[in-house]
Amino acid sequence: MTVFPPARHDALELEELFTPEEKAIKARVRAFAEQHAAPIINKYWEKAEFPHELRSKFGELGIGGAHIKSHGCQGLTTMGAAAAIVELGRVDGSLSTFFLVHSYLGVMTLGLLGSEAQKAELLPGLSNFSKVAAWALTEPSNGSDASALTTTARKVPGGWILDGRKRWIGNATFADVVIVWARSSETGQVNAFIVRKGNPGFRATKIEHKISLRCVQNADIHLTGAFVPDADRLPGVESFADAAGMLAMSRCMVAWQPVGLVTGVYDMVLRYTSQRRQFGAPLASFHLVQERLARMQATIQAMYLMCHRLSQLYDAGRMSHEQASLVKAWTTARAREVVALGRECLGGNGIVADFLVAKAFVDAEAYYTYEGTYDVNVLVAARGQTGYAAFKTAGRANKAPPPTH
Ligand SMILES: Cc1cc2nc3c(=O)[nH]c(=O)nc-3n(C[C@H](O)[C@H](O)[C@H](O)COP(=O)(O)OP(=O)(O)OC[C@H]3O[C@@H](n4cnc5c(N)ncnc54)[C@H](O)[C@@H]3O)c2cc1C
Repeated sequence: MTVFPPARHDALELEELFTPEEKAIKARVRAFAEQHAAPIINKYWEKAEFPHELRSKFGELGIGGAHIKSHGCQGLTTMGAAAAIVELGRVDGSLSTFFLVHSYLGVMTLGLLGSEAQKAELLPGLSNFSKVAAWALTEPSNGSDASALTTTARKVPGGWILDGRKRWIGNATFADVVIVWARSSETGQVNAFIVRKGNPGFRATKIEHKISLRCVQNADIHLTGAFVPDADRLPGVESFADAAGMLAMSRCMVAWQPVGLVTGVYDMVLRYTSQRRQFGAPLASFHLVQERLARMQATIQAMYLMCHRLSQLYDAGRMSHEQASLVKAWTTARAREVVALGRECLGGNGIVADFLVAKAFVDAEAYYTYEGTYDVNVLVAARGQTGYAAFKTAGRANKAPPPTH
């Protein structure tokens, strides 16, 4: 199956949620994903390699600069970015994640918290994907509890010496710049540093045998006396709260990723069950298959609407951490259900990557886990409901002020 199925998932005409400009981005990214990515991506997925041959075409899409509107970045709206995320994820989950890590963690952090000189130097290349960014917060011993990070930044004349380890860092094996979060020896607070490709104290090793998002190059990073000049510390970062702020913003975009994944699954399943015949009739004519199709379609519409509302709140400057966590946790959980329903409709071909659904089935697992696991995100959401931060060991003693929304 090399020709990607037509888009048939939009039962409630949700395309109308997008402005004409956002629709144009959607159409552009859909054409790229269907025509250039879909025919080749499984080959890379099998080999667990990133499709570098797509990078120049990525650059032509005008999406790399995320929300930033300067230094060659195009200033996407939130729904414009959502359009790109959905269309990339509809064809391949890894491409959606590559874009998210590069643009909504790397570029946004530099654009919002970097110095004028850092932006002028790096944003033009990052906006057209001639340079790639990575974002390194998680450590081998500090995942969900990322604020406990132990990577150190020791002040020396003219700069900083970074020591420590990071894990799971997307794009890091080939990124030109890695934003590394480390604890300052001067203040004890978390700061952010630009570590450049080729830094002799930086080593990134690909995490092998990963079965989800196989094209994303996730790395273990070793920082061993890595010198970073003063000019490469991000001046806008004062504490871990700045990392948390970036994560809340990107979580709003990550919530859209499963939407893309399930739209592709639905489109594939609808075509497959319409064409495949058993007992003298198309699969799509049987009751059980129709129930699954209807359930998939309804869930997809609801996922779209949750994300749309979250995006509106973000644009209004009113999105809370709890709201972002609630929606991210919910859409990633629903994606697991939709891909499982899709997988049931395909029989044996449901476990063959060529039919998309098997690939989406495992890719949904990464969405469910990164940018905060389902568990931790629902506990953050529930903190908003109850005032108790149950994700901290001493949860019962952790009564926060009553929720204000
Ligand atoms: C594919 C992929 C890409 C990633 N990309 C990046 C990246 O680019 N940059 C980056 O910095 N990080 C990245 N991450 C890291 C990701 O954010 C972490 O994996 C995630 O936050 C979970 O951390 P952990 O894997 O260490 O799990 P752990 O924190 O060890 O959690 C293990 C289990 O315990 C549960 N748990 C933990 N604490 C609690 C609690 N208090 N209450 C209840 N349950 C709890 C979790 O929900 C989970 O089920 C990526 C991860 C993956 C898998």
